[in-house]
Amino acid sequence: MKKTENSYLKRSQSLIELIDKSPTPFHVVEEFKYQLKNEGYVELLEQDSWDLAPDGKYFVIRNGSSLTAFCVGIKMPEEAGFKIIGAHTDSPNLRLKPNPEYIKNGYVQLGVEVYGGALLTTWTDRDLSLAGRVLLKQKPVKARKSSRGKQKPLSAIGYGGASRLIKFDRPLLRIPQLAIHLNRSVNEKGLVLNSQNHLPPVFALSDGKIKSKKMLKELVAAELNCAPADILSLELQLFDLQKGTLAGANNEFVFASRLDNLASCHAAMSALLESPRKDAATRVLVFYDNEEVGSETAQGGSSPFLKDVLERISAGSQNPRESFMRGVARSLFVSADMAHAIHPNYSEMHDANHLPMINSGPVIKSHAGQKYATDGVSASQFEQFCLKAKVPVQKFAIRSDMRCGSTIGPITAANLGVRTVDVGSPMLSMHSIREMAGSKDQENLIRVFKEFYKPV
Ligand code: ZN
Repeated sequence: MKKTENSYLKRSQSLIELIDKSPTPFHVVEEFKYQLKNEGYVELLEQDSWDLAPDGKYFVIRNGSSLTAFCVGIKMPEEAGFKIIGAHTDSPNLRLKPNPEYIKNGYVQLGVEVYGGALLTTWTDRDLSLAGRVLLKQKPVKARKSSRGKQKPLSAIGYGGASRLIKFDRPLLRIPQLAIHLNRSVNEKGLVLNSQNHLPPVFALSDGKIKSKKMLKELVAAELNCAPADILSLELQLFDLQKGTLAGANNEFVFASRLDNLASCHAAMSALLESPRKDAATRVLVFYDNEEVGSETAQGGSSPFLKDVLERISAGSQNPRESFMRGVARSLFVSADMAHAIHPNYSEMHDANHLPMINSGPVIKSHAGQKYATDGVSASQFEQFCLKAKVPVQKFAIRSDMRCGSTIGPITAANLGVRTVDVGSPMLSMHSIREMAGSKDQENLIRVFKEFYKPV
């Protein structure tokens, strides 16, 4: 295998490792926290006062599920601006309801809600497990497993307990499909799933006693080495245990869960961590939770998270407010989210002049109705980074008779008034439990992001 080929595949392997470790936004933020600390980045808390140094490296976490990391420029924002890459940590999935357990026809089942625009049929007949965050009454005395995943006490008013991450590594759940003999027209009419009736997974066989209803808390308590009574609340979601893999006759593909949008997070983080120090501009990345449900949360794209951090970076200037506004006016926001590759079996769903191909480089997304925030200037800026990085670039616009999806790009552009470009690697099976992308595109995107972050 050629050396260059090998470096592409290594990148994709590293992405697959991140995805396998990170079934939830909490886990991906925890993993990035570990990586940032390893590279000398200092964690800042939003409730503390900050004292930032030029060329200093910092990160901030909100709700354990959104993250901003930045390397302060050696010039003030009003002179050199911000180079920002944004992405999202969440993916569509099924989440447990607050009182999930019930018994029906001899089975113990768990009530679930749909989070985001999941392709629901892909969640059937999979080896599913549970992961997420557990809120405890008090800090457990000792952690049974490694210290990673153990979070600091949360500072919310009146809550003195601790939060712990959890990830079961064995199949606990399944949403069994109805046999074709009982659903004869399924192949012609498609599988129609009612979210309330058809999605609750089976968890166990019931012994007919009330004990079955305590099974989940007992399982969680045993995993965390605490008493079931210590558990105040669970934020658990389902995930597929099958690990990601390189695939295709020549390893040209990646098959994995949550490529949308952990591929963009991985690319932005790799670029930041590998970029040399001493840039005039302040390099920033922001990863938001809750993009898949509209971003309207305290840690979502519509929140002031990024604005707060940029304002505080500007606070060291003699005229902080003006420094922030002048800084934003000099900045570019790269909104990174996956793009729709041409599907060979459904090519009529694409505009014939905009057919992104897998492994042919990042895609610049435009939309006249501004569902993507790209304009001519931001597209040209991004295209130049691709040219300099010697990476091919593609363009996407939706069919004119179809509704366009959106990203954190337009939200951030409107909130901050920052010039924005919407980009992303091409993929298939978006929002399936198991998605598909190109094994070369991860390295392609990282090279372009590194060009963007290159000191000037
Ligand atoms: Zn996305």
